[in-house]
Amino acid sequence: MKITPSTYIYQCAGSPDVPEVEKSRDQVCATCAIEISSGIPINKIENPTFSQNADFLRFGAHVCQACAWLYWAGKGKPGNFIAAGDKYSHLVISHESVVEDKEPWHSLLHRISTYADDAIICGVLTTDVKPRLWPRTKLATIGNFGLYIHAPDYDISTFINFDLYKCLEISGLMKAPLISGYSKSSIYHGILSDYARSSKDIECAMRMESKLSTCRADPAFLPALLISGVTKEEKKDVRIKSVYREPATATKGGNQSGQTQLRLF
Ligand SMILES: [Zn+2]
Repeated sequence: MKITPSTYIYQCAGSPDVPEVEKSRDQVCATCAIEISSGIPINKIENPTFSQNADFLRFGAHVCQACAWLYWAGKGKPGNFIAAGDKYSHLVISHESVVEDKEPWHSLLHRISTYADDAIICGVLTTDVKPRLWPRTKLATIGNFGLYIHAPDYDISTFINFDLYKCLEISGLMKAPLISGYSKSSIYHGILSDYARSSKDIECAMRMESKLSTCRADPAFLPALLISGVTKEEKKDVRIKSVYREPATATKGGNQSGQTQLRLF
């Protein structure tokens, strides 16, 4: 059976019951365009803020149960989420303030990177949970990965295809600059732009920047930056910094094949 992003998310969420279902003369869902014979009339899901999203209802007067369930999820929901491996998860960007039932993106992506290449995924990674973004995302797989990414600070709101493993590898490179106190914006634009900080140990800064610059053009760079972070404990852990102080040790351990790939850029 054909699936759409909404129906896949709904299925991973356990297909909860949805009220207000009626027989529909429309043959497709107004939002995700899946074939329907019954649905929820759109006047039951519209609200005063909905006019901004009128293009989500372009295909007719009824939506499927999956889309209705997502519309009714409530303000700011589902925000950051992923449906993967038949499980629907709400997520947070932060590594530190872990809300109950919300896993950090970083640990979730590590976990699902062990799934089979053809495992279907569908998600939204956003720095602002207010806009309704789920109708804009697409289906992807672990091997052909992608997320809808909304990051107004970096002028990005679009679906991005990127390599999941590369994303995790790049995120690993960002750990040391973050621990050293560089902002995500400096990591995005170039850490030498933070003169006050980089001038304190210019050799270390140049080593970090040289690694970051090899992957800054990669589509996985921005998602890697968004999911990266450090905890207070990690800030105290100076051993990670030493990777950059002693370049000879930088290639030991870790994902050797990944590092080889990085050098190709
Ligand atoms: Zn639908």
